Amino acid sequence: MAKKKPEVEPQEAVAAEYTVVARRYRPQQFEELIGQESSAQALMNALSGGRVAHAYLFTGARGVGKTSTARILAKALNCEKGPTPHPCDSCAICRSIATGEDVDVLEIDGASNRGIDEVRELRANVQFRPSRGRFKIYIIDEVHMLTTPAFNALLKTLEEPPAGVKFIFATTEVNKIPVTILSRCQRFDFGTIRTERIAAHLKSIVQKENREADDGAIALIARRAAGSMRDGESLLDQLLSFGEPVTPELVHKLLGTAAAERIAAIAQAVLRREPRVALEAISESLAEGVQAGELLDQMIEFWRDMMLVQSCGPEAPGLTNPTSTLQSVLSTANLDAVLAGLDILAGTKSRLKFSTFPRLLVEMAVVRLARLDQILGVGDIWGMLQSGGTPMPAAERLATSIGSTPTATEAEKKKRLSRSPAPNL
Ligand SMILES: [Zn+2]
Repeated sequence: MAKKKPEVEPQEAVAAEYTVVARRYRPQQFEELIGQESSAQALMNALSGGRVAHAYLFTGARGVGKTSTARILAKALNCEKGPTPHPCDSCAICRSIATGEDVDVLEIDGASNRGIDEVRELRANVQFRPSRGRFKIYIIDEVHMLTTPAFNALLKTLEEPPAGVKFIFATTEVNKIPVTILSRCQRFDFGTIRTERIAAHLKSIVQKENREADDGAIALIARRAAGSMRDGESLLDQLLSFGEPVTPELVHKLLGTAAAERIAAIAQAVLRREPRVALEAISESLAEGVQAGELLDQMIEFWRDMMLVQSCGPEAPGLTNPTSTLQSVLSTANLDAVLAGLDILAGTKSRLKFSTFPRLLVEMAVVRLARLDQILGVGDIWGMLQSGGTPMPAAERLATSIGSTPTATEAEKKKRLSRSPAPNL
């Protein structure tokens, strides 16, 4: 099996110059793993108790620390002063593992070594003793890419693991791993990393690099990273490479996105049924280089946030926009309109993929959104005619809006929601 080239990942290869910073801050000890404390602690306990398994499976989204953890575990097992939960980071073995060049630690990319022949080669090599370390350690990244015959061949090795061999598998798609393999691995699930923790880490990098970055810009990068520390670091690297202080404007320029205030202004305009104002804001954004698709994604995020705040209150988890920006818009919104709006935006998103007129689709979405109140009004009357009841009085409808204390019971709310017609997409 061909050894994975050290340290070259596709997006890093493109921006090799930028990634120096991210690589320099790669965690080197279990204690430095951000957001994966429980896995780190369990591995440290196994090391100090001498209960290290033959095979591990690290699962989780990309950029959350699976490969970093695998390398730290490899160091911990083979460090000249180990096995230890605290590898020394100064011996020759620790240093060569950290750069991905150690002879006994083989990092293999499962995507490009997925066949039976590669696994056969691996099985033949497994028999040889490690050159200088205590263990021969195979780190197989993207292991879900292996073919079925390759998995079967690998299973034979896992069934009778030679002494002195450890396997660490990493995958983003654990559902594609055969049960027979799963049952022979100790599994660790790596969760996505919370936005605040990514932001704190990025901020510390900026300080260590003696550079300047606005807190708002850091928050934007961290939200954009969507739980992946590596994505956050890559983005920060690119921004630092501009050689100027990192501001929200710079982040938006690099990403082709609009400022949160602009998105809030569009939302405000459609909720006030002022399509002209919203269309002007879209036109200005596009003229400034914002991509129509990005703009739509940002609008979806904003509407989603409005739904979350209306359903869970201002402390709703997972908000992507600042609460202050949301609150200013929400006083004019009602949950039915927000839900119907999300339907329109999501429908536009799926159509955008196949369209050569992204701008037109976004504009149509905005005009539809601005007419929602009228559509909902008709829906209420239709619901009344259907049920023989009375339409919801304006005052009661107002009570369901965010600013006021909801007085309606859950059942009543459901009834109201069911009255809103599915918008015509
Ligand atoms: Zn060491």
